[in-house]
Amino acid sequence: MVSRVIPVDPFDLVIFGGTGDLARRKILPGLYRRFRAGQMPEGARIIGAARSEMDAEGYRQLISAAIAEFGGTEAEDQASLAAFLGGLDYVTIDATGDGGWKDLAALMSRDVVRAFYFSVAPALFGALAERLHAHGIANDQSRIVVEKPFGRDLASARSLNQTLAAHFDEHQIYRIDHYLGKETVQNLMAVRFGNVLFEPLWNNHYVDHIQITVAETVGVGGRGSYYDKSGAMRDMVQNHLMQLLCLIAMEPPSHFDADAVRDEKLKVIRALQPLDPHHVVRGQYDASTESPSYREDAENARSFTESFVAMKCHIANWRWAGVPFYLRTGKRLKARSSEIAVVFQDLGHSIFEGDEARHRNILSIRLQPNEGMDLQVTIKEPGPGGMRLIDVPLDMTFADALGDDAGDVTDAYERLIMDVIRGNQTLFMRGDEVEAAWAWTDPIIAGWEARNDVPKHYDTGSNGPEDAMMLMHRDGRRWREIKG
Ligand code: NAP
Repeated sequence: MVSRVIPVDPFDLVIFGGTGDLARRKILPGLYRRFRAGQMPEGARIIGAARSEMDAEGYRQLISAAIAEFGGTEAEDQASLAAFLGGLDYVTIDATGDGGWKDLAALMSRDVVRAFYFSVAPALFGALAERLHAHGIANDQSRIVVEKPFGRDLASARSLNQTLAAHFDEHQIYRIDHYLGKETVQNLMAVRFGNVLFEPLWNNHYVDHIQITVAETVGVGGRGSYYDKSGAMRDMVQNHLMQLLCLIAMEPPSHFDADAVRDEKLKVIRALQPLDPHHVVRGQYDASTESPSYREDAENARSFTESFVAMKCHIANWRWAGVPFYLRTGKRLKARSSEIAVVFQDLGHSIFEGDEARHRNILSIRLQPNEGMDLQVTIKEPGPGGMRLIDVPLDMTFADALGDDAGDVTDAYERLIMDVIRGNQTLFMRGDEVEAAWAWTDPIIAGWEARNDVPKHYDTGSNGPEDAMMLMHRDGRRWREIKG
């Protein structure tokens, strides 16, 4: 099958923080992949901007090395790489000073799409936005891309929104949550809203519960001091897990457009019932023979920050009344695995007896590794020996179904950046969504802080603290296995 690559319009993309980790690891290698795929038009220009002194040639060398390190086998295509690097430029600029802005303005005289990726600390967003306007570089068609974290609570997110809103309209602001750029996440919408099969079952009459797991094997080493001020609730739940929850639970939008989709997601967040902070399980990983404990990684021997969190949520609307949504995420767990599982109810009446009566349909949506979906269905075990039933997956793993084209599903960043150039905000968070998500998580975090809540310990390489298991067992349910 040949995938259709539609080139985007010519553009100038300025990456503030163009020498940083995110730019080198994700943004530039992603753009290079789009270039190789034929999606970048003639005359697309990428301009790195940071305080480091270097010229365009120095920047090309830096990015060439980054693509060699993070670009996979595509980096070996020397001719493509040289052509891609030829479209790169660099300006030495200080977000908070005056140096470099005239140089950038001089480069930006073309009448093409202008996008500015703020791959810098959020504290610099205001200074960048202000100077882009003061120097006449941004116009009312320009777009800005901002990264997580978008605030650390409702007040700071609101203030960040106000800072950006002073210079840009909401339709110009692209708040990235790279989970939304994953192929499977979009496919979830295609499966739900493009098939007649699922929507009639997508409610409390047929769904027993939903599980969302984002498990990582890595610890917080390397970014321990940042993470220790954040924790799993701020770092993962408020954005990634809540976004996944919204997509799985939202009502069908009237059409597939950015505001219609985001309106429906917002309604889900607003319908989330408040949680008692003390019903949320928090954990911190212990040391293993090979790796340090959370507190060692965070260099804070008295840290109460959680590296794991598990909770049961309810959405107060007609569709989901009574259906629990179990969410968990953590570091140093058994495997790297992100999955949404829709567990359907038992049959109202089974004509089979004994163990044969106990089978369930489960729709599993895997975000990583091995992106794809499968639907567990019950069939007769082949062969003689009477009616024995087994559960088998109807597999929709993209790598199998799509062959070579499945290579396109690996990175969310490249898709999201192309959406910015196209002016499509569907997969980006709107300001009111982000604020509503903080409004839901803030009281939970405040409850922990008020009581100096101490997270439970869990073993590195485990499923998280025992209490997380109990959260399910108490309801007569169990978590799905975390497997990579
Ligand atoms: P980083 O490695 O520390 O890079 C920061 C970049 O900003 C560098 O290019 C730095 O270059 C530039 N910079 C710093 N101060 C500046 C100033 N006053 N004016 C102009 N440029 C300045 O950070 P990062 O990891 O790339 O992260 C960038 C943003 O993405 C952050 O908001 C982070 O939270 C977010 N993010 C990162 C990741 C990731 O995987 N890295 C993931 C999610 C979100 P100079 O020092 O040369 O100026």
